[in-house]
Amino acid sequence: MGKIALKHVTKSFGATEVIPPLDLDIEDGEFVVFVGPSGCGKSTLLRLIAGLEDVTSGMIEIDGNDATKVPPSKRGLAMVFQSYALYPHMSVRKNIAFPLRMAKVDEAERNRKVEAAADILNLTDYLERRPGQLSGGQRQRVAIGRAIVREPEAFLFDEPLSNLDAALRVNMRLEISELHQSLKTTMIYVTHDQVEAMTMADKIVVLNAGRIAQVGSPLELYRSPQNIFVAGFIGSPK
Ligand code: ADP
Ligand code: MG
Repeated sequence: MGKIALKHVTKSFGATEVIPPLDLDIEDGEFVVFVGPSGCGKSTLLRLIAGLEDVTSGMIEIDGNDATKVPPSKRGLAMVFQSYALYPHMSVRKNIAFPLRMAKVDEAERNRKVEAAADILNLTDYLERRPGQLSGGQRQRVAIGRAIVREPEAFLFDEPLSNLDAALRVNMRLEISELHQSLKTTMIYVTHDQVEAMTMADKIVVLNAGRIAQVGSPLELYRSPQNIFVAGFIGSPK
């Protein structure tokens, strides 16, 4: 469950090739971070995996099946955005339950799943509030709760903490790492922040202009950066 393989995936917008042919394996249960400077193609790559963009060529396999023609809602993935995308007029409970309502899950089951997610995320006391009555960190937890109730094959995070202040970012980093340890679900996490990458990842994918500059564990990248770009970006001594 949850293995994702990119095979010679490319993406062009018009005549501009943003992702040249790219191969990458993401193992079941791995916490993979895509890191690189702004504009290097991190979000595009994540959106291709999610199905929010179509590949120009190549194949994306999820659990050994070609997912390229599978619509986003059927890929079994849950995306968490930096903008939260919560419904302001709905309670926290209804926001978290929303994907379950769409899937016609009955109310008792919805409540059970929402309450289990709220328990993990320390939101139990906030279920009847509206998003406007929450802090930034709590709103981000609601967005994560909405992903958890779908029980996805993998979570996809696109710079989920960039709207939060520095202290809260450190907290949320730990919370997301703990969530990964308890759920053991594959997570793909996009950030331009080297510290986030180094502290959270099992495997880091460093991107430079749509190409993979290096793939490795934080320690491997730190100890043996393969090129000057990785050395400079990760801040390791080369
Ligand atoms: P990152 O998330 O790493 O900042 P993106 O994946 O958003 O980078 O963008 C990679 C490149 O693709 C950028 O040059 C960006 O301008 C371009 N790009 C992204 N989305 C589109 C689009 N819908 N149409 C045209 N160009 C795009
Ligand atoms: Mg981006």
